[in-house]
Amino acid sequence: MTMTQNTPPTQQAYPKRHLFAASGVALLCLSLIIYPSREVEAKKTFITIELEEQANEQVTDFLDEQLIETAHDTVEDSAQEVAVEEDVDTFEYNKTLTVASGDTLSVLFNKAGISSTVMHQVLDKNKDAKRFVSLKPGQQINFEFDQDQTLQSLSSQVSALETIYLEKQADSNTFKFRNELATTEIKEKFAKGTITGAFFNATNQAGVPYSIAHDMANIFGYDIDFAQDLRTGDTFELLYEEKTLDNKTVGTGKVLTARFTNRGKVYTAVRYTDKQGNSSYYSANGSSLRKAFIRTPVDFARISSRFSNGRKHPILNKIRAHKGVDYAAPRGTPIKAAGDGRVTLAGRKGGYGNTVVIKHGQGYQTLYAHMQGFAKGVRAGGSVKQGQTIGYIGTTGLSTGPHLHYEFQVNGIHVDPLSQKLPTADPIHASEKQRFANTSKTLLAKLDAKKDSQIALNE
Ligand SMILES: [Zn+2]
Repeated sequence: MTMTQNTPPTQQAYPKRHLFAASGVALLCLSLIIYPSREVEAKKTFITIELEEQANEQVTDFLDEQLIETAHDTVEDSAQEVAVEEDVDTFEYNKTLTVASGDTLSVLFNKAGISSTVMHQVLDKNKDAKRFVSLKPGQQINFEFDQDQTLQSLSSQVSALETIYLEKQADSNTFKFRNELATTEIKEKFAKGTITGAFFNATNQAGVPYSIAHDMANIFGYDIDFAQDLRTGDTFELLYEEKTLDNKTVGTGKVLTARFTNRGKVYTAVRYTDKQGNSSYYSANGSSLRKAFIRTPVDFARISSRFSNGRKHPILNKIRAHKGVDYAAPRGTPIKAAGDGRVTLAGRKGGYGNTVVIKHGQGYQTLYAHMQGFAKGVRAGGSVKQGQTIGYIGTTGLSTGPHLHYEFQVNGIHVDPLSQKLPTADPIHASEKQRFANTSKTLLAKLDAKKDSQIALNE
């Protein structure tokens, strides 16, 4: 096991951000060297503010450094005298800056006339404050000051739903993070479609948001292999939640019920929340759709080699049994634990390369080979949950390209995970049966009514 391979691929983006932040701090320092005098600082503040007032009325979206710089030249002479005199009166206690492409937080602090000392007070030792560091062009940052021109808070609306704040604590120089979430309305949406090519093309055409389509594939993922089993003419219909704010769609909720007809066989899923508040998906008759094992440990991967008792090994060039299934997928694609269990190996294993072995109990064991690296926290002796990412697709060990070699053992004997009958999870408990039946009946009646009314509309 090498440490360098343990890093998930998503973390590779961070150093760039650090670079930006670092260059921002450098800029800030540079500007302090160039403008050391207080008078000049005050003048600068005044000019920026006057322009902002104009900008707020007319061109809020276009407020950027260039605009300020250009205008700076034209108003500099006339503003100079007035600025010194009326510095306090014209001080704006509430400044809103719009993030321009390439702006870092330190650039914005500089524009708002805030010292780097204060910036460090705001950001230091505050984990959540980091949320202010990842800025998007067009995003607005609001700075609030008190009578002493001391920064009191900064805030930013980061999405239609969320505004984040950093607020100065009354008797210290520390800033506390908080966020505000808008209350959304949940609406039920209906959609239906037919498979003619790729699954996501069909769901997209039906107007189903990507996250909901992904959830639907996961819900049926124990029975239908969405990479292998889909056929032209397969159909689906579903009811799902949509989050709205002032009648505008701002997000999605849960899939409430869905029906998928795959090669003539109908699969139905109903979401049910039991009396303890646990939610899960069940078939219409109340059996769980969650099996003790996930059929495919990699989403939407292509099977590049099946289980066989004798085939020519691509590297060793000898006839060898292939005691697993190979899934080809791009490097870095997450690999999921097929079931709950205990990790017995997370490390190098000869020709298998980086390998994870999980013992699931009742004689079941799964193995995942050729990984690029392991997911954080996955180590021998630890436990994993079904569906948890344990590592990433790679091509370590004896391997010709990025893929997962996946083995499934029952009582020490290799079996084909694609043909193996997988044990099922618990069905609806007897004490919940009546309540489930009511939920299921209501949801499926709604689904059918929507489907019928849409068919009538189309005719
Ligand atoms: Zn293999």
